[in-house]
Amino acid sequence: KSVTLSLLQSVANAFDFGGPVLCDAHHYGEGHINDTFVVWREDHSKRFILQRINTDTFTNPVGLMENVCGVTRHLRAKILAEGGDPARETLNVIPTLSGSTYYLDADGGAWRAYDFVEDTICLQQVGSETDFRTVAETLGKFQNQLEDYPASTLHETIARFHDTPNRYANFEKALAADALSRAKNITSEIEFIHAREQDCHVLLDQLAAGEIPLRVTHNDTKINNVLIDAATGKGICVIDLDTVMPGLSAYDFGDSIRTGANDCAEDEPDQSKVHFDLHLYEVFAKGYLSTAGASMSMAEKKSLAWGARLMTLECGIRFLTDYLEGDHYFHIARPDHNLDRARTQFTLVRQMEEVFDQMLEIVCPDNR
Ligand code: ATP
Ligand code: MG
Ligand code: MG
Repeated sequence: KSVTLSLLQSVANAFDFGGPVLCDAHHYGEGHINDTFVVWREDHSKRFILQRINTDTFTNPVGLMENVCGVTRHLRAKILAEGGDPARETLNVIPTLSGSTYYLDADGGAWRAYDFVEDTICLQQVGSETDFRTVAETLGKFQNQLEDYPASTLHETIARFHDTPNRYANFEKALAADALSRAKNITSEIEFIHAREQDCHVLLDQLAAGEIPLRVTHNDTKINNVLIDAATGKGICVIDLDTVMPGLSAYDFGDSIRTGANDCAEDEPDQSKVHFDLHLYEVFAKGYLSTAGASMSMAEKKSLAWGARLMTLECGIRFLTDYLEGDHYFHIARPDHNLDRARTQFTLVRQMEEVFDQMLEIVCPDNR
């Protein structure tokens, strides 16, 4: 659904921006989920982010905004206590003029506004080891600042998001149905997944046994969800909090490794170009543990290595499930696009398995 300037202006007028604002109907940034716009105060003294929440993906925007407000309130208090600048180091929700944290337009669109975090850069790709380390430190700090937040009070904004056994079960259902007779094309991939059924349970079993804690997790720990200070190069602010949910540190760590510790595209069709980069894994792990490690047990540190493997396996399973079901969920640009994506994930998993002892040693040296 497009957004006209008049809709945007009427939505903007509902928020408490401290004065009238001017809108621009061009989308801002490179997000794929929400519709993101920038609005300026009329006197150009300050700008804000105005976003329409994608309610196809997030069916409970009210619960979602409760999560965002709860978590950012907590972060603000922590940042103040640490002598930081809460105006830049966390998202700040701008309320509406009637005091609500979101606004519903006449078509049912759900909107929210944030302060614009100025003087930052938002990287789209891992350009250097330093960047990757910075992202790791910032995500580790985010997790650490939320260590004492009651994770179980958060809404699950996407149900069973990283429930890997459930993703496995959904794959089995799609395979049994084989609606498009595609199973015959993927016998080796099916075998690959079946051989790893037990792996899918590792993290949730550890959680159930009380060996690792339930945490507040971000669940979309891509590099472009961390803003970096343009002047100092330091990580400033973790953004895009829609998928903040109860989860495991291994999920956030693992997804960053899946997306960042290689130099291939997620949909690279040529498997000879797919390389898991153990060195980048180590760079990320050291950065992450430098800010989050103090509050993590040995078992939780080890779970991070499993997180890398399982987030990658789970993602591959989801791509292959979508392939079997006819490519309904992930947008495809070519036939077999989801199959290529799945294969790339499985190649990475295989490579991680080969160096798994080293991966464990890096996150938990000498079992310390
Ligand atoms: P994704 O595809 O990562 O899920 P999204 O659609 O959920 O993205 P966001 O990540 O929230 O959207 O925002 C899109 C982009 O807008 C960000 O990558 C960033 O460049 C910019 N952005 C978002 N919030 C802010 C902010 N408060 N200050 C400055 N820039 C911001
Ligand atoms: Mg984003
Ligand atoms: Mg997002």
